[in-house]
Amino acid sequence: MSSIDIEADLSPEETEIRSLVHRFAEEVMRPAGIALDAMADPQDVIAENSILWDVYEKHRALGLDAVADPASGFTPAQQARLSSIIAEELGWGDSGLAISFGVTNFPKTLAMLSGKPHLIEQFARPNLVGCWAITEPGHGSDQIVYTADPKIETLGKPNCIARKDGDSWLVNGQKAAWVSNGSIADAAALFCAVDEGDGISGVGGLLVDLHSQGVSRGKPLNKIGQRALNQGEIFFDDVRLPGDHLVVPPAAYAMFGDAGLTQANSGMGSVFVGCAQAALDMALAYAKERIQGGVAIIEHQSVRARLFEMFRKVEAARGLNRRVVLSNAINGPKLQYAIASKVTSTQTAFDVASSAVQIFGGNGLSLEYPIEKILRDARASMIEDGCNDVLGLMAATRL
Ligand SMILES: Cc1cc2nc3c(=O)[nH]c(=O)nc-3n(C[C@H](O)[C@H](O)[C@H](O)COP(=O)(O)OP(=O)(O)OC[C@H]3O[C@@H](n4cnc5c(N)ncnc54)[C@H](O)[C@@H]3O)c2cc1C
Repeated sequence: MSSIDIEADLSPEETEIRSLVHRFAEEVMRPAGIALDAMADPQDVIAENSILWDVYEKHRALGLDAVADPASGFTPAQQARLSSIIAEELGWGDSGLAISFGVTNFPKTLAMLSGKPHLIEQFARPNLVGCWAITEPGHGSDQIVYTADPKIETLGKPNCIARKDGDSWLVNGQKAAWVSNGSIADAAALFCAVDEGDGISGVGGLLVDLHSQGVSRGKPLNKIGQRALNQGEIFFDDVRLPGDHLVVPPAAYAMFGDAGLTQANSGMGSVFVGCAQAALDMALAYAKERIQGGVAIIEHQSVRARLFEMFRKVEAARGLNRRVVLSNAINGPKLQYAIASKVTSTQTAFDVASSAVQIFGGNGLSLEYPIEKILRDARASMIEDGCNDVLGLMAATRL
């Protein structure tokens, strides 16, 4: 990061990984994110010749998954710190692309949880693009709320159901256009209503090969921010899955849903610290260059005061996120803390980006400067992975 570095005890190896990811964020992600954002048609973002695939390939080549490997040589505390540092740096480069890399691992996580070698081989292969398909057209916040507290019977008709049929599952229905990587994913960690033969008994988690017969996709979603992040509907028409593809049965869903949302919200917390840092860095650089009243605008007291407020908020969000990610790794998941981090980071990213636009003056509103993009990216994050207000209500029940 270009701000003053107060990380006290990073090992040389951790410092090296951080620099490597920062270089990738700066040289590959930032320019690609700007180019993808400018594409008027979201179909072009995922076209065969899109720069998106080059970014994916270079990201894979970094081999960052190895950090989380038990054989990496890092302690669990180092792994936790590195996971937030890496996600921050990726979020600094482009938050939409960082989220795309994050959700791609959902099927892998589910496969590892199953412990079944053939599922691991199929769904944890390195070049697989994955997604987390949970939101439905009729159920947005509902899905997030019953992720941690499954009371599906009170929420009305689900849009997607997996029904037991002999030894296998038949999936019918659809997931919403909000599924990140929805149009491009090879596989889904699908969370939907499950009928084990006696009516819907709850929500379960299934592994789905999205190249299976009966799967189709909608048009990629066109949206205000994180435009480099593909999103799109997935339709299921009598999609047949082997029995062991139900990895999380309804009886285990409360525990898994809680842990899954904790992981996702903590990751969002890291990515949007990076996004906030990007806005601060841009504002700081601009304030040192732009001359008004015969001096660089950073010499004006009100601009300096604004920059300090931005800096203070970013460091506070970073401090909370590091603490939460470390605690999740060492003490186990605590959803209310992960939510506190997600809400703090995303609100901070939005506030800091908005202050940055103010510092840029009229140029902040111009499409020639990337700061307006960061404001749009940050705005989306306050709805992504659960609306901040709904998440706050959920967290409050655990205080
Ligand atoms: C950038 C982005 C990426 C996303 N990625 C994914 C993904 O990978 N996979 C996926 O499945 N989904 C994804 N989503 C979907 C996201 O999880 C939902 O958009 C979110 O949960 C909100 O649902 P909704 O949009 O239907 O809003 P609604 O649930 O309709 O909410 C509308 C408003 O009502 C309020 N509200 C709703 N219910 C309550 C309640 N019980 N109490 C109080 N207020 C309430 C909300 O706060 C909000 O202000 C993504 C969304 C975005 C923006």
